[in-house]
Amino acid sequence: MALITKRVYGSEDVLPKDSYKWQFLEKLMREEAGSFGFKEIRTPVFEHTELFQRGVGDTTDIVQKEMYTFNTKGGTSITLRPEGTAGAARALLEHAIYNDGLPVKAYYFVSCYRYEKKQANRYREFHQFGLEAYGTESPAADAEMICAAQSIFDRLYIGDRLSLELNSIGCPECRAEYYKALKEYFSQHKGDLCDTCLSRLERNPMRILDCKSPVCSEIAKNAPMVLDYICDDCREHFEGVKRLLDASGVKYTVNPKIVRGLDYYTRTVFEFVANGIGAQGTVCGGGRYDGLIEELGGQRMPALGFALGMERLIALLDSSDVQLPIPDTCELYIASMGDKAQEKAFELLKRIRSCGVYAETDIVGRSLRAQMKYADKIGAQFSVVLGDNEIERSRAEIKNMQTGEKREIRLDNGFAEDFLQVKIESGNKSAEYFK
Ligand code: ATP
Ligand code: MG
Repeated sequence: MALITKRVYGSEDVLPKDSYKWQFLEKLMREEAGSFGFKEIRTPVFEHTELFQRGVGDTTDIVQKEMYTFNTKGGTSITLRPEGTAGAARALLEHAIYNDGLPVKAYYFVSCYRYEKKQANRYREFHQFGLEAYGTESPAADAEMICAAQSIFDRLYIGDRLSLELNSIGCPECRAEYYKALKEYFSQHKGDLCDTCLSRLERNPMRILDCKSPVCSEIAKNAPMVLDYICDDCREHFEGVKRLLDASGVKYTVNPKIVRGLDYYTRTVFEFVANGIGAQGTVCGGGRYDGLIEELGGQRMPALGFALGMERLIALLDSSDVQLPIPDTCELYIASMGDKAQEKAFELLKRIRSCGVYAETDIVGRSLRAQMKYADKIGAQFSVVLGDNEIERSRAEIKNMQTGEKREIRLDNGFAEDFLQVKIESGNKSAEYFK
């Protein structure tokens, strides 16, 4: 019995009193993505399991341990998306969106599902905002991607709470040399590596650098650095990215340890890491995945993107001084006594709401006293009380709940006009963006 009133382990509710944060962030991100020319893509919450095996990569933690995979009644294996890129890439191919012109620039909001151990800032259902760009190899695209993320953080006044860590992990060609060096190095420590890393050693030794086990990460500290192995083309590309970041005034640190958790990354990889929200400090991660579209059966098409963890962003905001704008409170509460007055209240509310005013009346059947108490509780800015007398006169008093000041207001066609006038004169401003 208790089970049905308990949410599933690792999932979270966003309660009505907190949802304004999500709405505010989503709006800001939509605006920001829009101003960079990205359009929204919405893809299903589940996909064929094989898409993630191929698109995320079967040497990754996600595919090896974390996917919510099940068979449908028809016997098809489907998986709840663990991230947003694979679905976007699949849609790009399925609808041949690249025919509409390149680059394709899309943004998404997705819920993601990973069977992970719950920790601070780590959930089994979480949410990402992300950008995707397809069909451009230019370092300008990498720089633009990073600038877009930075710009979101700057608009939230948390740019300085995050450090941008940047790296290049080269292309498959130059990586061959690097893998050889890594294998050589890690083979000397075979006895100490965790089982997962042992299996990575042959297939994808770079993944070992990303292992969270303390022993493996200690060993990884002295491993060869990818930047010492990348080819001239990759180096030039990396220099190009840095040059445009410098031109945009975006500060970064080159961190050769950043390799990202997904198989399909090439060249640029980056993370925005927060100090002060605990162990899981990576708020945003991204990079280039030039091999992904080919891996999914398409023609070779360079691609890149990032994903930003919404819960981690909110944790960071909560731990900072930044106050997201508190939603507007009720502007007008109409209390009523008796059927006639209630009908009038409904009529007036229809008018006033059509002018964009946030207005409420009693829908519980409370006494007048209790109605006024409620108006107080919700912080209503003005109130009007309707009774037989007011209906007869077609006039009522409107009260400024803060100052107690009263004015007369018409209850006929002039109602909305009078209310807006009262509102303007009272100088009540709607909530400022940031306080
Ligand atoms: P981590 O190293 O923390 O496991 P990751 O490399 O698996 O992260 P990505 O797959 O790159 O993360 O996802 C991008 C972003 O999504 C992360 O930077 C983080 O903000 C967020 N994220 C990833 N996994 C979780 C999770 N289990 N719970 C909450 N947020 C998450
Ligand atoms: Mg992870």
